[in-house]
Amino acid sequence: MTNYHLEPPNHFSLPRRIRRLGELAYNLWWTWNPDVQRLFKRIDKDLWERTSHNPIQFLRQVGRAKLNAVTHDSYYLDFYDRAILGFDRYMNNADTWYERNNGSPKEELIAYFSTEFGLHETLPIYAGGLGILSGDHIKEASDLGLPLAAIGFLYTRGYFTQKISEDGWQEAHYLRLKFEELPIFPLLGEDDSLLTISVPLPERAVLARIWQIQVGRIPLYLLDSNVEGNSPEDRELTSRLYSSDLDLRISQEIILGVGGVRALRKLGHNPGVWHMNEGHSAFMALERMREFVSEGHSVEEAKELVKKETVFTTHTPVPAGNDEFPLWLIDKYFSEYMDELGLEREDFINLARHEVSWGDTFSMPILAMRLSELRNGVSDLHGHVAREMWNYLWPERKTEDVPITHITNGIHTGTWLARRLRHLYGRYLGRDWMEHLDDPEVWETVDNIPDEELWAVRRHLKRKLVFYMRERARDQWLHDGVHPVQVVASGALLNPYALTIGFARRFATYKRADLVLSDFERLLNIINRPNRPVQIIFAGKAHPDDNPGKLLIQKVYRMVKKAETGGRLVFLEDYDMNLARYLVQGVDVWLNTPRRPNEASGTSGEKAALNGVLNFSVLDGWWREGYNGHNGWAIGDEIDYDNPQLQDQMDAESLYDVLENAIIPLYYDRSSGNLPVEWIARMKESIRTLAPQFSMRRMVKDYANNLYFPLMDGK
Ligand SMILES: *Cc1c(COP(=O)(O)O)cnc(C)c1O
Repeated sequence: MTNYHLEPPNHFSLPRRIRRLGELAYNLWWTWNPDVQRLFKRIDKDLWERTSHNPIQFLRQVGRAKLNAVTHDSYYLDFYDRAILGFDRYMNNADTWYERNNGSPKEELIAYFSTEFGLHETLPIYAGGLGILSGDHIKEASDLGLPLAAIGFLYTRGYFTQKISEDGWQEAHYLRLKFEELPIFPLLGEDDSLLTISVPLPERAVLARIWQIQVGRIPLYLLDSNVEGNSPEDRELTSRLYSSDLDLRISQEIILGVGGVRALRKLGHNPGVWHMNEGHSAFMALERMREFVSEGHSVEEAKELVKKETVFTTHTPVPAGNDEFPLWLIDKYFSEYMDELGLEREDFINLARHEVSWGDTFSMPILAMRLSELRNGVSDLHGHVAREMWNYLWPERKTEDVPITHITNGIHTGTWLARRLRHLYGRYLGRDWMEHLDDPEVWETVDNIPDEELWAVRRHLKRKLVFYMRERARDQWLHDGVHPVQVVASGALLNPYALTIGFARRFATYKRADLVLSDFERLLNIINRPNRPVQIIFAGKAHPDDNPGKLLIQKVYRMVKKAETGGRLVFLEDYDMNLARYLVQGVDVWLNTPRRPNEASGTSGEKAALNGVLNFSVLDGWWREGYNGHNGWAIGDEIDYDNPQLQDQMDAESLYDVLENAIIPLYYDRSSGNLPVEWIARMKESIRTLAPQFSMRRMVKDYANNLYFPLMDGK
């Protein structure tokens, strides 16, 4: 192990009395504690907005006078002291769920590898659902006290910012991240030099430095190849997520897998459980095999030893979506590595050989399946699909016996719940409800919340969303020189009291963003009824190289711009965690229309449900498990047609029918005063049944009980 230290992060010059704000800024704990965010906001509200809720940028810019002012404000100081007390209690709590439940006498580290982490909008090192899941997973691991360390990338240019041209074409802008404004700190060696690791790439070694982000109690280590000593091209290796360039992609995956293991070793960690979240990081299993071989084990022994400590989560329900490389690329990148492992080429390839009609490939999920002891998909249906898809790896087994289980995805409650609802739940679910948020009994008491109070908060959240969109539209008009119709398309004409439907996700074609638009005349008729207006808000990015996805955005955008919509259809640019929070908290209905069974799980609908938003979705992924007939609505039934056009047509028919005959009448039924009583009843049913089951608390406990603990005990 190398002696290393963190550069002391608290370098702001703050008044003594509130000195520890700097510490709070450098621990992402604040991202799931909205009351702590108010500590910054209260000092200078305008600056807090201008810095996009980034405490580090905020503290670097805030004026001394404003800081001094709050040190004389006893209300503020009280608030500050309580936040610090809460933080210290959290960080030092020895009585965690893990302490009470792990059966293992010695504490073993769980190493969690993922190619993206969605922690907060100011850290654009995630693209979508996979990243949000990883981010939520480590936040919850912190809450539960799991001994976990995570490994990922610090992409120097992050994921792109999206702009939509007047004709609906997505433009991707990459900004270089300003590290000094992010809650990251470099790890330094003894002589204050950068701590780096080195990985072998063809005819050279590439260096990567190690950064750290503190996520509550969990360290997240991020690798970055932008280091002196690397060639200019190599310095850009880790600058962006998910390139379609094969050389770039395999290089990244080698840095993550091989480099990730080396980074953990360098920091003195000796994990007992290794978790690959999706196949991108599967080279880590090879590196650990290489370690065992270099210690004198045979390759077969090494393989068994690695397996015994490894967990793999697959997220991909379609073979085409899986990550694989042509064999010439494997020869180019791994010929020396094979020698070190003591494997012949054919045996090396056989670890991950995927036979496809156009020649064999090296498949990352197959490598991960072969070198893990426990494997899981991310919903019940996805578990079935994965067992079928990978059955041929276990040819002697019946499909239902293929050793892939499932744990359905969840969401981190603190991160996604609106602050006002958190306080409301706090009043009616019991003071310590957050300690028991996966306990269905606690959520039974949702029925005690008076309808008026719940409805008042829901109305507030929708107004907040609408005003936020209008401000963004105004900003675009003021600063971006957009055409007036784009101002309308961005939500300038939205009505804060109309039934509002949200559809926000990655624009991949199987998600069928255009399904709700497929009978446009019928839709116009539905949304424009004088006393029962309906509005639909779309948002989402397409991968920059995904032309069908970009064409789908264009198709939606062109329809949104039509005058006949009355401004009731909207497309919001640049879907990210910030916009996601506004949407899942602010709309009335969350729409999801994937073509089954492509949505392995989905999580955005879970965020919506937690906030009292009703789901209206195809019975795919998590919703197939969550829907009970009374807590939202289903689109279609569980029949899968062979003909995709027919499937789309049937699903669209069902969508319009339910919308017209169930959803709209229920929302606008105000026969008992001004409250939609039946709607609120459904909302409560949704919160009561879905919030505990689809919490990240339930999910991480399932991972611990079914995947992590068995491997800890198994030795
Ligand atoms: C939650 C979330 C996702 C994942 O949502 P899906 O249900 O998979 O569509 C993607 N992007 C952002 C920004 C999110 O917050």
